[in-house]
Amino acid sequence: MKTMTNLKDAIRDIPDFPKKGIIFKDITTLLSRGDIFKQVVDQIADHFKSKKIDTVTGIESRGFIFGAPVAYKLDAGLVPIRKKGKLPYKTISATYSLEYGTDTLEMHEDAIQPGTKVLIVDDLLATGGTARATAELVEKAGGTIVGLAFVIELEFLKGRKNLNGYDIFSLIKY
Ligand code: AMP
Repeated sequence: MKTMTNLKDAIRDIPDFPKKGIIFKDITTLLSRGDIFKQVVDQIADHFKSKKIDTVTGIESRGFIFGAPVAYKLDAGLVPIRKKGKLPYKTISATYSLEYGTDTLEMHEDAIQPGTKVLIVDDLLATGGTARATAELVEKAGGTIVGLAFVIELEFLKGRKNLNGYDIFSLIKY
């Protein structure tokens, strides 16, 4: 419980960013503290260390920050999931709904082989649309999703509903 309080203290709330009514969870205040950043990475890696993860997928862009050190700790590879048009090679894509319109995520078509055990990492779970689209990409490629890890979960947005059946791990809940 003490740990949770410390981690929460390291997140900065920015009201009305990027638009009115949103409370943006600023993780830069967490990242700038070596002890807290390490605690977050260690806790995610420890939670999944017995699961024999082959590949971590980091979701652009804050998912890269946490996904990379988690992959390193798990002796796993790292696969970037990027916004449309950023990846240089042939891609597969998944489109998901936003409040207004849609967004598309892409992954290199050869990044994940059938049977690969995958951990999906992002900084924050809100409605779950981003993570859901990433899960679709992994499964399209034939990967097996072992779990999803988030530093922050906004429980009131019920993102887990979008991710039924998966093992979801989050460190800081609001
Ligand atoms: P969602 O697809 O609704 O689960 O949104 C998750 C993505 O949007 C994550 O990649 C987050 O980085 C970002 N995001 C959504 N809401 C917030 C928030 N309140 N503060 C910071 N990032 C957010």
